[in-house]
Amino acid sequence: MLIDSYDRVVDYLRVSVTERCNFRCTYCMPEKPFSWVPKENLLTFEELFEFMKVAIDEGVKKIRITGGEPLLREDLDKFLRMIYDYEPSIDLAMTTNAYLLKGTAQKLKDAGLKRINVSIDTLKPEIALKIAQKDVLKNVLEGVDEAMRVGLKVKANMVPMKTVNADEIIDVLEYCKERNISIRFIEYMENAYAAKEIQGMKSPELLAILSAKYKFKDDGFDGSSPSHYYTMEDGYRFGIIEPYEDDFCKKCNRIRLTAEGKLIPCLYFDEAMSIAESIKEGDIKGAAAVLKEVVRTKPEKNRWGGDDGEASTRAFYETGG
Ligand code: SAM
Repeated sequence: MLIDSYDRVVDYLRVSVTERCNFRCTYCMPEKPFSWVPKENLLTFEELFEFMKVAIDEGVKKIRITGGEPLLREDLDKFLRMIYDYEPSIDLAMTTNAYLLKGTAQKLKDAGLKRINVSIDTLKPEIALKIAQKDVLKNVLEGVDEAMRVGLKVKANMVPMKTVNADEIIDVLEYCKERNISIRFIEYMENAYAAKEIQGMKSPELLAILSAKYKFKDDGFDGSSPSHYYTMEDGYRFGIIEPYEDDFCKKCNRIRLTAEGKLIPCLYFDEAMSIAESIKEGDIKGAAAVLKEVVRTKPEKNRWGGDDGEASTRAFYETGG
């Protein structure tokens, strides 16, 4: 079992399989980066799988594939199947923009994928075009339908932004509620790469909009999930992710791996250690030692918020958000 210095069990690994994305979301990657990580620096799926085995053997129980856009990486289903065949009880999930999901959902499900989180920031084609800088909405919604049809469990993420999609908070919630998709509103997180003009919305503003329409009760946190949950009178539950608070750090159970093999103990810290060399040399003990050291040094809480708060300069598309 992996236990950090604050007695938290770390059993959740998020794996960013590519930093590349087919969207240019204003809050994440508004422009193509000056250069992508060279292909030769990326770990192959076989190499990533070697590390998945180490992590699973050390106690990881949940693996989430993310990016960039994970569906851009060829043969993703084969990677999922390798993990599933090694440990079928692994909770295998993926975060995706769903653009390419229509043609791939069945293959991914068959390979062992259980759940997906999809970014649904708007239901208006013109706003989707404004946010992603590409006409994406039709494909995204068809991708969501297909995922549900093949039996993947679906959750949605929305990043509410003033003057962009703030007027759609209720509509997106209703879209999700009708389909029994749980929605999480993510407070926009300041970062060095996002478009400068973005004005995010904090939890009290979101709750004010939601409480004008619905009655709900505060359920607090649930297990290790970063969401602050609220349950409506009819039982539907939505969540708000409030990174500027650090309540969820107390129960944080996650670490992150980038496509280059950097193992990151906390989304908001720039510190990382590489497992690439050990894995490429077949040094499994070395990779396990790096994993344990990263867990040991996992910080107590993120550095955001507060007077001396600082924003990570690492891009969300590198770490997987
Ligand atoms: N391409 C996939 C997608 O669209 O979901 C996975 C990668 S994306 C980086 C993962 C998550 O990070 C998405 O839910 C996205 O909304 C969130 N995200 C990215 N930048 C963010 C920001 N500045 N503030 C809040 N959430 C952000």
